[in-house]
Amino acid sequence: MNNIVFISGSESATKSQWLAEIQKQLINETIRLPEEISDSQAKHIDIAIVANPDPSDLARFPNLVWIQSLWAGVERLVADVIDKPVKLVKLNDPQLAKTMAESVLAWTLYLQRNMPEYAQQQVNKQWRQLPCITSAELRVSVLGAGALGITALNTLKKLDYQVSCWSRTAKQFDGIKNYIGSAGLHTMLSKTDILINLLPLTPETYHLLGKELLSNLPKGAKLINFSRGAVIDTKALLNLLENGHIAHAVLDVFEHEPLAPTDAIWTNPNITVLPHISAPTNMLSAAKVIAKNILMYRENNVIPNYVDVKQGY
Ligand code: NAP
Repeated sequence: MNNIVFISGSESATKSQWLAEIQKQLINETIRLPEEISDSQAKHIDIAIVANPDPSDLARFPNLVWIQSLWAGVERLVADVIDKPVKLVKLNDPQLAKTMAESVLAWTLYLQRNMPEYAQQQVNKQWRQLPCITSAELRVSVLGAGALGITALNTLKKLDYQVSCWSRTAKQFDGIKNYIGSAGLHTMLSKTDILINLLPLTPETYHLLGKELLSNLPKGAKLINFSRGAVIDTKALLNLLENGHIAHAVLDVFEHEPLAPTDAIWTNPNITVLPHISAPTNMLSAAKVIAKNILMYRENNVIPNYVDVKQGY
């Protein structure tokens, strides 16, 4: 029987649920919490499953070969393992990608069909019909064409939106324009009505969307941020919302979460605030993905596709 450590910063009820769900999928492994493992036993553990782990808990396991994250965003973990030989595997769950694609579609429709304006009109008891732009007329661009980005783009494509994406390396997708590099980004932004951010937070993407790039969007463009708050320079975004260059922003993620009750973003009429809910990890499907990764490793000694810590994702 092999031992795996499960290190989570979640509250204990959630931790127990995760533990039970993963254990159910891995009958030949014993999944244990760090406090149940002595320092001498810790030296023999090769796999950790983690969710917001305390770095000091992680440091107790010096011979880990790989770490499986329960989340798709791993920027904090990258910082914890950057100088270590341990490999970091993020969650790559098709269900998560589908959930994110549903969110992308839902909030694209919300902006396309002027829902923030109609909500305000109702408050003001105002009867006014706004232009109804068809999906075929609307240029929707996604920053990032990874596991989540590409599923979102394919979902949008099926509904006839004009879809583009920006990635670090060039891609070929049927019916989706791909841009790369700084020039490519500028070009794409200048042809975008709704911009959706699905880039990981890395040293290269930190505050990438600042005044200069966001000003490249046509006047009246709208923005959705579903990846990480710090990819956007919030101050620059607030200025562009204030002067009307950007008409509305749907923000699911923030540099500091939860958003402070005193933050003026809450009451900004041009911002829709969501509490980091665009794609929650589904316990059942994630446990199955993780179990498959671990079984593959035990059988063939193959570590699943892991993060390039130098690139940060
Ligand atoms: P992924 O598979 O690693 O894809 C990342 C994409 O971003 C890739 O297409 C990559 O380009 C591109 N990229 C990275 N750095 C770039 C750069 N400097 N310039 C241009 N393109 C760059 O990531 P994912 O699984 O799709 O997840 C994306 C992010 O979503 C996660 O990092 C996480 O922060 C966020 N997320 C949010 C929620 C939520 O509930 N809000 C839930 C899950 C995940 P290449 O293809 O060329 O490598």
